[in-house]
Amino acid sequence: MPPIELILAAPRGYCAGVDRAVETVERALELQGAPVYVRKQIVHNLHVVRDLEARGAVFVDEVAEVPEGATVVFSAHGVAPTVHGESSERRLDVIDATCPLVTKVHSEAKRYAQRGYRMLLIGHAAHEEVVGTMGEAPDAITLVETEADVPLLPDYDPAQPLAYLTQTTLSVDETRGIIEALKARYPWIVAPAKDDICYATSNRQAAVKELAKATDLVLVIGSANSSNSCRLVEVAREAGVQSHLIEDETEIDPAWLEGVERVGITSGASAPERLVRRVIGWFEERHGPLPVSELETVHEDVSFNLPRPIRRALAVVDADDQ
Ligand code: SF4
Repeated sequence: MPPIELILAAPRGYCAGVDRAVETVERALELQGAPVYVRKQIVHNLHVVRDLEARGAVFVDEVAEVPEGATVVFSAHGVAPTVHGESSERRLDVIDATCPLVTKVHSEAKRYAQRGYRMLLIGHAAHEEVVGTMGEAPDAITLVETEADVPLLPDYDPAQPLAYLTQTTLSVDETRGIIEALKARYPWIVAPAKDDICYATSNRQAAVKELAKATDLVLVIGSANSSNSCRLVEVAREAGVQSHLIEDETEIDPAWLEGVERVGITSGASAPERLVRRVIGWFEERHGPLPVSELETVHEDVSFNLPRPIRRALAVVDADDQ
């Protein structure tokens, strides 16, 4: 086999919102013991979900499956207000691990709705984040998935205020095209004060673009339902390089390596770093020790506070220990 070099994208893997959501479930398990109910996958990664399940987390699709009065954690993707309503009807103890950057989009939607705006949400149907955001103002929000959807939208009255919002984990380049089409069709449309596509999504896409220039193959570690991971594969392919999404090292097809000398590796915002180490191990098993370097495009140091109920419980434990 030809010599292979591995180049890792930086930044890659866990973002601040995922880190916070996963730690929220871990802390809830430590503080309260099992079971801790979690509505939907806490983050879109099979390994993370299985690991937390093994430690006592119980993943459910809807709060109706959670026993009355029990604790439930909401995932990083956010929930519609109706889910909060159902939870209080069932007297559930809610720990909301919605990423603060998703909450920001919910707040924008609420503000625009209160001011009588119609909104166009750029995103993917059925993604949990989109379902949650649309739930803030279901009658005022229309989903736009692709540029081809724009000509099919109604002729809104210019007298009615119009704004667009975006899902946080989209392709920056693809979204730009949709926004341009919306602005051309509705010149009065208002943009969010600050980009909705989050820092982690933008940074990982910028990093994979540079990685694609330096490699012959880009492997993206992430689950198929992880929006930001799927976008990384698309960005790498658009940059002209062969790219594949893999859940872990068991999904690497040796045929992909034919004629490949430099392999780029990155991981979606919900994929733990241990999976990157396992992929490196897969190559080392076949090729022996090989050069591994990192291509850093930007340094990230974002972190978010844990949800308030967890911080309060930890403060009580600390006080008891003193
Ligand atoms: S990808 Fe962005 S919006 Fe989603 S959890 Fe991470 S930081 Fe938050």
